[in-house]
Amino acid sequence: MPKIIAVALLLLVLQSTNAQSLPQNAARLVQTYNRPIQQQWKGVFSFPGGDVWFSNNFPGARVSGVARVNDSLYTLLITSENTPVNASPWYAFKVWSKRPQQIVIKLTYQQGVNHRYAPWISKNGQDWSLLTQESERDSATPDYSFHLRVGADTTWVAAQELSTSADVQRWANQVSKKAGVPVTVIGKSQWGKPINALKWGNQQSCSRILLMSRQHSPEVTGQIAQKAFVERLLENDALAKQFRQRFLVYLLPMLNPDGVDEGTWRHSAGGVDLNRDWYAFNQPETKAVQQYLQRELANTDNKLLFALDFHSTQEEIFFIVDPKQKSLLPGFSQTWIQATQQQVTDLKPVIRPLVSEGPSYTSLSYLFQTYGTETIVHELSDNSPREWLIRKSKASAVAMMQLLLNQVPE
Ligand SMILES: [Zn+2]
Repeated sequence: MPKIIAVALLLLVLQSTNAQSLPQNAARLVQTYNRPIQQQWKGVFSFPGGDVWFSNNFPGARVSGVARVNDSLYTLLITSENTPVNASPWYAFKVWSKRPQQIVIKLTYQQGVNHRYAPWISKNGQDWSLLTQESERDSATPDYSFHLRVGADTTWVAAQELSTSADVQRWANQVSKKAGVPVTVIGKSQWGKPINALKWGNQQSCSRILLMSRQHSPEVTGQIAQKAFVERLLENDALAKQFRQRFLVYLLPMLNPDGVDEGTWRHSAGGVDLNRDWYAFNQPETKAVQQYLQRELANTDNKLLFALDFHSTQEEIFFIVDPKQKSLLPGFSQTWIQATQQQVTDLKPVIRPLVSEGPSYTSLSYLFQTYGTETIVHELSDNSPREWLIRKSKASAVAMMQLLLNQVPE
């Protein structure tokens, strides 16, 4: 075979393997001592003689500055809490006008950062829809412009639906009522907000699972998926009842309340990526979880069999424990993903076994190395249609309950 064809074939083979399952090296060790973050100036942006106002004065907001270019064009400067940081440029603001009119809003980011999130809008900060109006990328710059009709009624605009620590607290209270268990404060964030945990099911069971989310502030689809997943576990059908009789479930619904409410791109109020602190535990949020799990699992008969840490990125990815390394439930992740796929045939999962050697920096490597837990860092796509996301999450909850009931001896 001519050499060039052989190389082309090899590349083709490599590409097709890449699409499904690609081992990924463990996350790099980064220092997780406190680093300063830039807090936004908070208030209403107004302009001499202007009749349009912007505000970032609410939890979850992020806009660092607004410039009025002309009567109908406004440029919003969107910057991160500190650098280096992942390019997940979260923004959120309110806008209103004295008279009904159409304006153009241009989002402009700090150097090296491209626009990522298409705008969502709301009239009340609770019900959101994706803005489908004409929008354009500036081909010469990373800027992004869109048209918006504004009037005396406030319009909320955000990178994803707002889901603040107060919103998640309200939901946790509903879960508490439904499951008949308290919300326990297991620690405080850097700025003094509660880190909450709930645990329901068979309180005496040694067979335990863990669900957590929002280590990273803008990752709202992870939260939506977790919510649907939990709600399916709490239904009153025979499967969910049987599952609750056999297993104990831990839920940590909001690990980075400060970052979420400050509208950071990724980091905590301590200025660090919490999912790189599962080694040094320098940050109060991760420390609280570490100590909580140590207390809960002090009796070594208690096994943390399976953990799901919900995140978001541009596509759907399952980071799993490398199947070659034996967890408490070897191979469970892949079986579970396949079982979900049978229910949701348009799910095209990308599965990435994480090489989990050496010190553990992330939730996945920590839980696996400390407790042998079959752990998944589950990345949901920013752009998944929400109805699909909810349907898929419920199907995956059913698959997990069925498989665990079948595989784990009583
Ligand atoms: Zn994340």
